Amino acid sequence: MSSRDEALCQACGACCAYSAEWPRFALETDAQLAKIPRAYVDEACGRMRCGGDRCSALTGELGVATACAVYAARPDVCRECEPGDAACGTARAHIGLAPVMRPELSTP
Ligand code: SF4
Ligand code: SF4
Repeated sequence: MSSRDEALCQACGACCAYSAEWPRFALETDAQLAKIPRAYVDEACGRMRCGGDRCSALTGELGVATACAVYAARPDVCRECEPGDAACGTARAHIGLAPVMRPELSTP
């Protein structure tokens, strides 16, 4: 992720608080999952533990300044998030933020 994208995401956090169903584990290995502190994991559901729709690893204030407490060990789905893609736009709209303009993502 570029430093521009990192700055965008740190001032947002919307996709980490959109749905408890989003930060779900998929193809991670046991070794990868073991790096995530258990306090942040919902073992029964196979995903990050959430409070409502917000991932328990998200710190800070949405739309202002946020961070991921397990950034280096975050699940694959979190690594695939791309500022400016459709899911990003949906999550940002949910908290009242304008979409990230990335013309290169809308060209076929
Ligand atoms: S919704 Fe988009 S800009 Fe906001 S944190 Fe997620 S990927 Fe980054
Ligand atoms: S693990 Fe980190 S990047 Fe993934 S949803 Fe939770 S706070 Fe966001």
